[in-house]
Amino acid sequence: MALQFDPQDEIICIGSHRELADDGSVLPPIAQASLFRQPDMATLFDGLAREHEVAVYSRGTNPTLSVLEDALARLERGEACKCFASGMGAIAATLTAFLEAGDHVLFAGTIYGPTIELAQRLEGYGICWSRTDVTDLGGITAALRPETRVLYMESPGSMLFGLLPIVDLAALARDRSIVTMLDNSVATPLLQKPIELGVDLVLHSCSKYIGGHSDLVGGAVVGSAAHIERIFRKGLLLLGAAMAPFTAWLCLRGLMTLPVRLAKHHEDALTLASWLAEHPRVRRVFHPALANDPLLTQQMRGHSGLFSFEVDGSFADAIAIADRLRVFGRAVSWGGPESLVMTGHKANPVEVSPALPASLLRLSVGFEGVATLQEDLDRALG
Ligand code: PLP
Repeated sequence: MALQFDPQDEIICIGSHRELADDGSVLPPIAQASLFRQPDMATLFDGLAREHEVAVYSRGTNPTLSVLEDALARLERGEACKCFASGMGAIAATLTAFLEAGDHVLFAGTIYGPTIELAQRLEGYGICWSRTDVTDLGGITAALRPETRVLYMESPGSMLFGLLPIVDLAALARDRSIVTMLDNSVATPLLQKPIELGVDLVLHSCSKYIGGHSDLVGGAVVGSAAHIERIFRKGLLLLGAAMAPFTAWLCLRGLMTLPVRLAKHHEDALTLASWLAEHPRVRRVFHPALANDPLLTQQMRGHSGLFSFEVDGSFADAIAIADRLRVFGRAVSWGGPESLVMTGHKANPVEVSPALPASLLRLSVGFEGVATLQEDLDRALG
């Protein structure tokens, strides 16, 4: 079924910011400046007090970033947004802004590896963490601790694409004053709006679908004005992972085509996933639409171009198949126009994560066309 977006989102994506430009430019100028002169010292001091919204110094606020932040906040239906040099920059600033020594963070769903590595690093600062692979409310409730301050989710996860019951989990956390964070990079704000589902803070790797052309690395967090100001002061200003103005401009250019790109990613990925599900060399396909999970229609408008499958064979067989592909490129990351393949594991699958099948291959379906991609996969699968 074709994706239906919220018409309001399509307007935001194609550039409701254009009215800002006096000369009719459809994209804002790139404010390539590190600092912004103020007319007098009183204005400068006032700007410093409100540095999260006033352009004083580009580590904090920059006019080009502000246009992007405004668009992302509106797409996610949040009050405010801050952008970062990378998705990990956003994740690190957000987690550390809410966790102190003695606190616990619970990770639910299949979480992006470096986010867990960051949590391991935070152990050195007295912050505890644990993860749960269960996706049901009871299992996640049981994993909470009295000192849990943050519930961090990925739904869909970026490897097995499992969905979490976001509404229930957000309500559970709210009752216990636990801050909820959700990495929405896979779905994008067009396909899922976690804030409307009750989540406090939504994270993005803009390096994926938001940028959309494999030419930038960036991140963002959206939430209430109070939460974003806290992340700004404790995370962005002090850790300093600011997005560059040109990157923000590229993200705005990417946003303009996000609806059409997602529609194509969604359609072609679903066709390929359904075909792979019947292939004799494929054991299982991990795609939310094929899992028939009712949460898909309750929480999302559809799925993007990313899914994975388990080869009927070993880790070595999966690597051999990935190596035989000619159109799919072997690369990390996803969300661009070119189709990519990545294994679920880099080495020694049993020790790395028993939750992921050893022979997992993840596909990011690009724009080469379904027939070409199907032929490539069929030949590689042998
Ligand atoms: N979240 C997910 C689900 C990811 O896949 C990635 C990167 O692959 C990130 C976050 C981190 O984003 P970045 O690479 O922009 O730091």
